[in-house]
Amino acid sequence: MSLDGTYDAGNIFARILRGEMPSVRVFEDDHVLAFMDVFPQARGHTLVIPKHSTARNFLEEAPENVGPLLLGVQRVARAVRAALTPDGIAISQFNGAVSGQTVYHLHFHIIPRWEGVPLGRHGEGMADVEELKGLAEQIAAKIA
Ligand code: AMP
Repeated sequence: MSLDGTYDAGNIFARILRGEMPSVRVFEDDHVLAFMDVFPQARGHTLVIPKHSTARNFLEEAPENVGPLLLGVQRVARAVRAALTPDGIAISQFNGAVSGQTVYHLHFHIIPRWEGVPLGRHGEGMADVEELKGLAEQIAAKIA
């Protein structure tokens, strides 16, 4: 999919938002939902998505939604830091297939990094759900 296109309400994150598909939830407020990435590139890889949006990517998001969305991203990233004490945190977001986007509901990746631990490959290797639940609990406990 390119940068241009129509929002598909059947995309996996829309289905997670509607509760039609399971997810390991970390946090939600009026604006955002955070849940664990099931194909994590690092331990604690968390996704943050807008709840009331049909933006496929960041460029399409309504400007008035950007502030609350990024506040949610920062809030979850701070909780990831407090819970997992990584050496660094990558926050990424892809727009269009050529950039690496595979799911067409706007989302941000929060990826903790540790010195000497290489980044896993994007979207490969499914995590153990029980382990994800443990990580989600740890992160949720640090949401300020
Ligand atoms: P992107 O490639 O930026 O579109 O990222 C999509 C991300 O969603 C990838 O990191 C996938 O591992 C992740 N993902 C795909 N399906 C699910 C799912 N059902 N639950 C959680 N994460 C998912």
